[in-house]
Amino acid sequence: MPLNEFSLIREYFSALGESPGVALGVGDDCALLEVAAGQQLAVTVDTLVAGVHFPLNAAAGDVACRALRVNLSDLAAMGAKPRWFTLALTLPEADENWLAAFSAALAEEARTFHCALVGGDTTAGPLTISIQMMGEVPSGQALTRSGAHAGDWIYVTGSLGEGAAALQLFTPGCELSGVVRENLAQRFYRPRPRLAEGLKLRGYASAAVDISDGLLADLGHIAESSGLGAEVQLAQLPLAPWLEEVGPLEQAQVWALSGGDDYELCFTVPAEQRQAVDAMIAADDFSATCIGRMTAAPGVYCLDADGIRVTIPETGYQHF
Ligand code: ADP
Ligand code: MG
Repeated sequence: MPLNEFSLIREYFSALGESPGVALGVGDDCALLEVAAGQQLAVTVDTLVAGVHFPLNAAAGDVACRALRVNLSDLAAMGAKPRWFTLALTLPEADENWLAAFSAALAEEARTFHCALVGGDTTAGPLTISIQMMGEVPSGQALTRSGAHAGDWIYVTGSLGEGAAALQLFTPGCELSGVVRENLAQRFYRPRPRLAEGLKLRGYASAAVDISDGLLADLGHIAESSGLGAEVQLAQLPLAPWLEEVGPLEQAQVWALSGGDDYELCFTVPAEQRQAVDAMIAADDFSATCIGRMTAAPGVYCLDADGIRVTIPETGYQHF
Protein backbone atom coordinates (compact mmCIF):
# COMPACT_ATOMS: atom_id res chain seq x y z
CA MET A 1 0.00 0.00 0.00
CA PRO A 2 1.45 3.39 -0.89
CA LEU A 3 2.42 5.59 2.03
CA ASN A 4 0.02 8.34 2.94
CA GLU A 5 0.97 11.15 5.30
CA PHE A 6 -0.28 9.32 8.37
CA SER A 7 1.16 5.88 7.64
CA LEU A 8 4.47 7.60 6.83
CA ILE A 9 4.51 9.35 10.21
CA ARG A 10 3.52 6.16 12.04
CA GLU A 11 6.11 4.06 10.25
CA TYR A 12 9.09 6.40 10.45
CA PHE A 13 8.55 9.08 13.07
CA SER A 14 6.33 7.80 15.84
CA ALA A 15 8.84 6.82 18.52
CA LEU A 16 12.35 8.18 18.09
CA GLY A 17 14.65 8.68 21.03
CA GLU A 18 13.87 8.90 24.69
CA SER A 19 13.68 11.68 27.20
CA PRO A 20 11.81 12.08 30.44
CA GLY A 21 8.99 14.61 30.61
CA VAL A 22 6.99 13.52 27.56
CA ALA A 23 3.40 13.39 28.83
CA LEU A 24 2.14 13.07 25.24
CA GLY A 25 4.33 12.62 22.15
CA VAL A 26 3.71 12.13 18.41
CA GLY A 27 0.08 11.58 17.42
CA ASP A 28 -2.06 14.34 18.89
CA ASP A 29 -2.54 17.96 17.91
CA CYS A 30 0.24 19.00 20.29
CA ALA A 31 2.87 17.26 22.37
CA LEU A 32 2.64 17.81 26.12
CA LEU A 33 5.97 18.25 27.87
CA GLU A 34 6.82 18.58 31.55
CA VAL A 35 9.55 21.13 32.19
CA ALA A 36 11.20 20.24 35.50
CA ALA A 37 10.78 22.67 38.41
CA GLY A 38 13.44 25.37 38.49
CA GLN A 39 14.35 24.88 34.82
CA GLN A 40 13.83 27.15 31.85
CA LEU A 41 12.95 25.82 28.40
CA ALA A 42 15.63 26.68 25.80
CA VAL A 43 14.11 26.58 22.30
CA THR A 44 15.81 26.87 18.91
CA VAL A 45 15.02 25.99 15.28
CA ASP A 46 17.22 25.53 12.20
CA THR A 47 16.17 24.73 8.65
CA LEU A 48 18.27 22.89 6.08
CA VAL A 49 17.26 23.29 2.44
CA ALA A 50 18.58 20.76 -0.12
CA GLY A 51 20.89 22.43 -2.59
CA VAL A 52 21.46 25.37 -0.25
CA HIS A 53 22.61 23.92 3.08
CA PHE A 54 23.66 20.48 1.83
CA PRO A 55 24.26 19.00 -1.63
CA LEU A 56 21.21 17.60 -3.44
CA ASN A 57 22.80 14.15 -3.57
CA ALA A 58 23.67 13.95 0.16
CA ALA A 59 22.84 10.65 1.87
CA ALA A 60 19.64 10.75 3.95
CA GLY A 61 21.44 9.60 7.12
CA ASP A 62 24.05 12.35 6.77
CA VAL A 63 21.35 14.98 6.37
CA ALA A 64 19.54 13.71 9.50
CA CYS A 65 22.74 13.94 11.55
CA ARG A 66 23.56 17.44 10.41
CA ALA A 67 20.00 18.69 10.93
CA LEU A 68 19.93 17.45 14.51
CA ARG A 69 23.46 18.45 15.45
CA VAL A 70 23.33 22.07 14.28
CA ASN A 71 20.37 22.51 16.62
CA LEU A 72 22.09 20.71 19.49
CA SER A 73 24.99 23.12 19.01
CA ASP A 74 22.64 26.04 19.76
CA LEU A 75 21.58 24.35 23.01
CA ALA A 76 25.26 23.78 23.86
CA ALA A 77 25.94 27.49 23.39
CA MET A 78 23.26 28.29 26.00
CA GLY A 79 24.52 25.69 28.47
CA ALA A 80 21.23 23.78 28.03
CA LYS A 81 20.63 20.04 28.12
CA PRO A 82 18.80 18.49 25.13
CA ARG A 83 15.31 17.13 25.87
CA TRP A 84 12.84 17.14 23.00
CA PHE A 85 12.58 18.09 19.35
CA THR A 86 10.01 18.47 16.59
CA LEU A 87 10.62 17.82 12.91
CA ALA A 88 9.03 19.68 9.99
CA LEU A 89 9.83 17.60 6.93
CA THR A 90 9.13 18.72 3.35
CA LEU A 91 9.64 15.89 0.86
CA PRO A 92 9.47 15.90 -2.94
CA GLU A 93 8.13 12.31 -2.80
CA ALA A 94 7.58 9.53 -0.25
CA ASP A 95 10.80 7.66 -1.10
CA GLU A 96 10.82 4.75 1.35
CA ASN A 97 14.55 4.09 1.05
CA TRP A 98 15.29 7.72 1.84
CA LEU A 99 12.79 7.78 4.70
CA ALA A 100 14.10 4.54 6.24
CA ALA A 101 17.70 5.78 6.18
CA PHE A 102 16.74 9.24 7.45
CA SER A 103 14.61 7.95 10.28
CA ALA A 104 17.15 5.28 11.35
CA ALA A 105 19.93 7.88 11.55
CA LEU A 106 17.68 10.35 13.36
CA ALA A 107 16.70 7.66 15.89
CA GLU A 108 20.31 6.78 16.57
CA GLU A 109 21.27 10.43 16.98
CA ALA A 110 18.31 11.04 19.28
CA ARG A 111 19.41 8.15 21.52
CA THR A 112 23.03 9.33 21.50
CA PHE A 113 22.07 12.84 22.57
CA HIS A 114 19.24 11.82 24.94
CA CYS A 115 16.45 13.70 23.22
CA ALA A 116 13.08 12.55 21.89
CA LEU A 117 11.08 13.41 18.77
CA VAL A 118 7.70 14.57 20.08
CA GLY A 119 5.95 15.90 17.00
CA GLY A 120 6.26 17.59 13.66
CA ASP A 121 4.75 18.27 10.30
CA THR A 122 5.03 16.45 6.98
CA THR A 123 4.40 18.17 3.66
CA ALA A 124 5.21 17.80 -0.03
CA GLY A 125 7.65 20.18 -1.70
CA PRO A 126 11.40 20.72 -2.25
CA LEU A 127 13.44 18.69 0.28
CA THR A 128 13.68 20.78 3.45
CA ILE A 129 14.36 19.64 7.01
CA SER A 130 13.47 21.89 9.87
CA ILE A 131 14.18 20.76 13.41
CA GLN A 132 13.05 22.64 16.46
CA MET A 133 15.05 21.60 19.50
CA MET A 134 14.10 22.10 23.12
CA GLY A 135 16.36 21.80 26.12
CA GLU A 136 16.41 22.60 29.82
CA VAL A 137 18.68 24.95 31.70
CA PRO A 138 18.45 25.90 35.39
CA SER A 139 16.57 29.19 35.64
CA GLY A 140 18.87 32.18 35.28
CA GLN A 141 21.96 30.09 34.42
CA ALA A 142 21.83 30.10 30.61
CA LEU A 143 24.92 31.37 28.80
CA THR A 144 23.75 34.36 26.78
CA ARG A 145 25.56 36.53 24.25
CA SER A 146 25.16 39.69 26.27
CA GLY A 147 27.04 38.91 29.48
CA ALA A 148 30.64 39.74 28.51
CA HIS A 149 32.63 42.57 30.10
CA ALA A 150 35.67 44.52 28.87
CA GLY A 151 38.81 42.57 29.78
CA ASP A 152 37.10 39.15 29.70
CA TRP A 153 39.23 36.51 28.01
CA ILE A 154 37.96 34.95 24.78
CA TYR A 155 38.17 31.19 24.27
CA VAL A 156 37.14 28.73 21.57
CA THR A 157 36.63 25.00 22.00
CA GLY A 158 38.27 22.40 19.76
CA SER A 159 39.62 23.57 16.44
CA LEU A 160 38.46 25.83 13.63
CA GLY A 161 38.38 25.90 9.86
CA GLU A 162 37.27 22.42 8.87
CA GLY A 163 33.61 23.34 8.52
CA ALA A 164 34.42 25.85 5.77
CA ALA A 165 37.21 23.74 4.27
CA ALA A 166 34.67 20.92 3.90
CA LEU A 167 32.97 22.93 1.15
CA GLN A 168 35.97 21.96 -1.01
CA LEU A 169 34.47 18.49 -1.08
CA PHE A 170 31.57 19.78 -3.11
CA THR A 171 33.77 21.67 -5.58
CA PRO A 172 34.17 19.96 -8.96
CA GLY A 173 37.71 18.67 -9.51
CA CYS A 174 38.46 18.40 -5.77
CA GLU A 175 41.72 16.47 -5.47
CA LEU A 176 41.90 15.82 -1.74
CA SER A 177 43.10 12.45 -0.48
CA GLY A 178 40.64 9.86 0.81
CA VAL A 179 41.56 10.36 4.48
CA VAL A 180 41.19 14.14 4.30
CA ARG A 181 37.91 13.85 2.42
CA GLU A 182 36.53 11.45 5.02
CA ASN A 183 37.59 13.77 7.84
CA LEU A 184 36.04 16.85 6.27
CA ALA A 185 32.82 15.00 5.43
CA GLN A 186 32.56 13.88 9.08
CA ARG A 187 33.02 17.45 10.20
CA PHE A 188 30.38 18.71 7.78
CA TYR A 189 27.70 16.10 8.37
CA ARG A 190 28.50 15.20 11.96
CA PRO A 191 29.69 18.34 13.72
CA ARG A 192 30.23 17.63 17.42
CA PRO A 193 27.83 19.76 19.45
CA ARG A 194 29.81 20.90 22.51
CA LEU A 195 27.07 20.00 24.96
CA ALA A 196 29.26 18.76 27.83
CA GLU A 197 31.43 21.86 27.50
CA GLY A 198 28.37 24.14 27.54
CA LEU A 199 27.14 22.55 30.78
CA LYS A 200 30.55 22.84 32.44
CA LEU A 201 30.84 26.49 31.48
CA ARG A 202 27.69 27.47 33.39
CA GLY A 203 28.83 29.69 36.22
CA TYR A 204 32.27 30.28 34.63
CA ALA A 205 31.67 31.83 31.19
CA SER A 206 30.19 35.33 31.03
CA ALA A 207 28.89 34.86 27.45
CA ALA A 208 28.85 32.16 24.79
CA VAL A 209 27.86 31.58 21.17
CA ASP A 210 28.27 28.63 18.83
CA ILE A 211 30.29 29.20 15.68
CA SER A 212 27.98 28.69 12.75
CA ASP A 213 28.76 31.80 10.68
CA GLY A 214 32.51 32.07 11.35
CA LEU A 215 34.46 33.05 14.46
CA LEU A 216 34.64 36.77 13.68
CA ALA A 217 30.93 37.04 12.88
CA ASP A 218 29.82 35.04 15.91
CA LEU A 219 32.26 36.70 18.30
CA GLY A 220 30.88 39.91 16.79
CA HIS A 221 27.44 38.86 18.12
CA ILE A 222 28.86 38.60 21.66
CA ALA A 223 30.63 41.94 21.24
CA GLU A 224 27.55 43.72 19.93
CA SER A 225 25.14 42.18 22.44
CA SER A 226 27.51 43.04 25.29
CA GLY A 227 28.20 46.57 24.00
CA LEU A 228 31.91 45.83 23.52
CA GLY A 229 34.61 45.03 20.97
CA ALA A 230 37.10 42.17 20.74
CA GLU A 231 40.72 41.52 19.83
CA VAL A 232 41.78 38.10 18.55
CA GLN A 233 45.44 37.01 18.40
CA LEU A 234 45.88 35.42 14.98
CA ALA A 235 48.76 33.24 16.18
CA GLN A 236 46.58 31.70 18.91
CA LEU A 237 43.87 30.40 16.56
CA PRO A 238 43.45 26.63 17.01
CA LEU A 239 43.53 25.68 13.32
CA ALA A 240 42.15 22.24 12.64
CA PRO A 241 44.59 19.46 11.78
CA TRP A 242 44.26 18.38 8.10
CA LEU A 243 43.77 21.99 7.05
CA GLU A 244 47.34 22.29 5.84
CA GLU A 245 46.56 19.49 3.38
CA VAL A 246 43.57 21.41 2.06
CA GLY A 247 45.05 24.87 1.56
CA PRO A 248 47.90 27.29 2.52
CA LEU A 249 48.08 28.85 6.00
CA GLU A 250 46.49 32.15 4.93
CA GLN A 251 43.53 30.26 3.47
CA ALA A 252 43.25 28.11 6.59
CA GLN A 253 43.13 31.29 8.71
CA VAL A 254 40.35 32.71 6.56
CA TRP A 255 38.37 29.47 6.88
CA ALA A 256 38.85 29.56 10.64
CA LEU A 257 37.94 33.23 11.01
CA SER A 258 35.17 33.77 8.54
CA GLY A 259 34.22 30.41 7.07
CA GLY A 260 31.64 29.13 9.51
CA ASP A 261 30.03 25.72 10.06
CA ASP A 262 32.55 24.69 12.73
CA TYR A 263 29.98 24.40 15.54
CA GLU A 264 32.58 25.02 18.21
CA LEU A 265 31.77 27.30 21.14
CA CYS A 266 33.24 30.77 21.48
CA PHE A 267 32.96 31.98 25.08
CA THR A 268 34.23 34.72 27.33
CA VAL A 269 35.70 34.27 30.80
CA PRO A 270 36.05 37.01 33.45
CA ALA A 271 39.59 37.38 34.83
CA GLU A 272 38.51 35.97 38.21
CA GLN A 273 37.28 32.74 36.58
CA ARG A 274 40.19 32.24 34.23
CA GLN A 275 42.21 30.04 36.57
CA ALA A 276 39.26 27.72 37.12
CA VAL A 277 38.59 27.44 33.38
CA ASP A 278 42.27 26.84 32.61
CA ALA A 279 42.29 24.14 35.32
CA MET A 280 39.33 22.40 33.63
CA ILE A 281 41.18 22.57 30.32
CA ALA A 282 44.42 21.28 31.87
CA ALA A 283 42.50 18.45 33.54
CA ASP A 284 41.33 17.51 30.03
CA ASP A 285 37.71 18.15 30.94
CA PHE A 286 37.50 19.80 27.55
CA SER A 287 39.66 21.25 24.84
CA ALA A 288 39.66 25.03 24.51
CA THR A 289 42.15 27.77 23.61
CA CYS A 290 42.38 31.35 24.82
CA ILE A 291 42.50 33.54 21.69
CA GLY A 292 42.01 37.10 22.84
CA ARG A 293 40.21 39.65 24.97
CA MET A 294 37.05 41.70 24.98
CA THR A 295 37.64 45.44 24.68
CA ALA A 296 35.63 48.48 25.73
CA ALA A 297 36.14 49.99 22.25
CA PRO A 298 33.74 48.55 19.65
CA GLY A 299 34.79 46.46 16.63
CA VAL A 300 36.23 42.96 16.29
CA TYR A 301 39.85 42.88 15.16
CA CYS A 302 42.59 40.33 14.50
CA LEU A 303 46.08 41.15 15.69
CA ASP A 304 49.36 39.75 14.34
CA ALA A 305 52.33 38.83 16.55
CA ASP A 306 53.35 42.52 16.74
CA GLY A 307 49.89 43.61 17.85
CA ILE A 308 49.13 45.15 14.42
CA ARG A 309 45.56 44.83 13.12
CA VAL A 310 45.22 42.41 10.21
CA THR A 311 42.44 42.66 7.63
CA ILE A 312 40.73 39.32 6.99
CA PRO A 313 39.00 38.78 3.65
CA GLU A 314 35.39 37.60 3.81
CA THR A 315 34.72 34.24 2.20
CA GLY A 316 31.08 35.09 1.53
CA TYR A 317 28.10 32.86 1.18
CA GLN A 318 28.57 29.64 -0.76
CA HIS A 319 25.90 27.89 -2.77
CA PHE A 320 26.21 24.29 -3.80
P1 ADP B 1 -2.15 18.49 12.72
O1 ADP B 1 -2.82 18.48 11.39
O2 ADP B 1 -3.08 18.44 13.88
O3 ADP B 1 -1.09 19.54 12.85
P2 ADP B 1 -0.68 16.35 11.62
O4 ADP B 1 -1.72 15.58 10.89
O5 ADP B 1 0.18 17.29 10.85
O6 ADP B 1 -1.36 17.11 12.82
O7 ADP B 1 0.28 15.34 12.36
C1 ADP B 1 -0.24 14.27 13.10
C2 ADP B 1 0.69 13.94 14.22
O8 ADP B 1 1.93 13.51 13.70
C3 ADP B 1 1.01 15.13 15.12
O9 ADP B 1 1.16 14.66 16.44
C4 ADP B 1 2.34 15.63 14.60
O10 ADP B 1 3.09 16.25 15.62
C5 ADP B 1 2.97 14.33 14.15
N1 ADP B 1 3.91 14.52 13.02
C6 ADP B 1 3.63 14.95 11.77
N2 ADP B 1 4.74 14.94 10.99
C7 ADP B 1 5.74 14.50 11.77
C8 ADP B 1 7.13 14.27 11.57
N3 ADP B 1 7.74 14.50 10.40
N4 ADP B 1 7.84 13.82 12.61
C9 ADP B 1 7.27 13.61 13.80
N5 ADP B 1 5.96 13.78 14.07
C10 ADP B 1 5.21 14.22 13.06
MG1 MG C 1 -4.43 19.42 14.71
